[in-house]
Amino acid sequence: MDGISDGKIKQWKCGKGHVLGVVVREKVKTEIEGVTVKYHTTKLVIYRLAIDPEAESAAQVDAAGTLYGRMLLGFSWKCSVPSCGCVRDWNPDDEALDWLKKRFEGSKE
Ligand SMILES: [Zn+2]
Repeated sequence: MDGISDGKIKQWKCGKGHVLGVVVREKVKTEIEGVTVKYHTTKLVIYRLAIDPEAESAAQVDAAGTLYGRMLLGFSWKCSVPSCGCVRDWNPDDEALDWLKKRFEGSKE
């Protein structure tokens, strides 16, 4: 059951609400020198074309590729929706912290 996703997905949007991709939290299980190590990683899947939720073509999703957040120091991605052009910065640490915070807050009574 290596690299199985725990199904936690959230949309990664530009400042105007267009969906640039999705952020996925994944459980990773690996073996290092005979010791099993389990941890969570944040994965960003970027869509080649950003999705405008108000456009009719929103169903046509075309993934540009998968970028593994923990391997990146960060980068900027420009929204491809015409007349938008918002630039969103990806910072894997911020995304991970945000995610943990929300999960923690959600679990409080
Ligand atoms: Zn946009």
